[in-house]
Amino acid sequence: MTYDASDGIPKLGLGTWQNTDGAQCANSVKYALDLGYEHIDTAQAYDNEEHVGDGIAESSVAREDFFLATKVWIDNLSHDDVLETTEASLEKLGTDYVDLLYVHWPAREYDAEETLSAFDQLYDEGTIEHVGVSNFEPEHLETAQEVLDAPVFANQVEMHPLLPQDELHTYAKENDIQLVAYSPLARGEVFDVPELNEIADKHDASEAQVSLAWLMQRENVATIPKATGEDHIEDNFAALDLELDDEDVAKIDDIDRKEREVDPDFAPW
Ligand code: NAP
Repeated sequence: MTYDASDGIPKLGLGTWQNTDGAQCANSVKYALDLGYEHIDTAQAYDNEEHVGDGIAESSVAREDFFLATKVWIDNLSHDDVLETTEASLEKLGTDYVDLLYVHWPAREYDAEETLSAFDQLYDEGTIEHVGVSNFEPEHLETAQEVLDAPVFANQVEMHPLLPQDELHTYAKENDIQLVAYSPLARGEVFDVPELNEIADKHDASEAQVSLAWLMQRENVATIPKATGEDHIEDNFAALDLELDDEDVAKIDDIDRKEREVDPDFAPW
């Protein structure tokens, strides 16, 4: 399986937040790429772009055969800082382009006109293949779409069986924006949800696989579980082979427990 840019965002990626130990992070990235992951997610704020770059260099996968995304932190969103810090990110990652560059949050130094004009410039230069945003609500998406010349390719948001994000999902489908589901395991909470335990038993699968398969079966949705060790990286990869039936999906859609795991004080909601 080789990543084809025309297929959009590969459904399954590797998240790397808090994977900051150098050798460990590099090995997670190398192991995932060699196993067949076609999408790696990092950010300036994760303080690991250099280690992610090491993993990429150590893997046997060519740069053009996978999708690489990073994010510009909220302190770096003035026009010139976007340009300068993106250059620094590329240097650390050991590449001359990323497939997707996100605005990490619409917060602090974010100003739609100023920030996004720099994203347009990077897009026109070919330094970034696509423009992304993260943690944007519909009103921020509307403004971004008005201001940008380039299309808004993706919005990365928290999404899992305890936070289905139906409103954002509808907006994304209507506006041809892909959703990238972060914290897809609800940062570990999915292991204690009875409905997910039952579906996992039924398919002889893990609750992680059930959550990931539910996300990946949704139209327009990709996901980026964070896994450090080889066992978790493999477990999550096998979610690509799990097919949930309508009854499973309905049971997940009906879960009453709802909660958000990532909620900093600068969040826009
Ligand atoms: P997550 O993926 O929901 O959960 C990660 C946790 O689950 C880790 O403790 C991991 O342990 C464990 N895990 C992974 N696979 C497992 C498996 N198969 N069985 C048991 N445990 C498993 O949480 P997340 O890191 O918050 O979200 C994923 C990625 O989304 C991040 O890494 C980051 O790339 C992105 N993200 C973006 C934003 C944003 O603002 N844009 C915010 C949050 C996250 P090990 O590490 O030990 O494997």
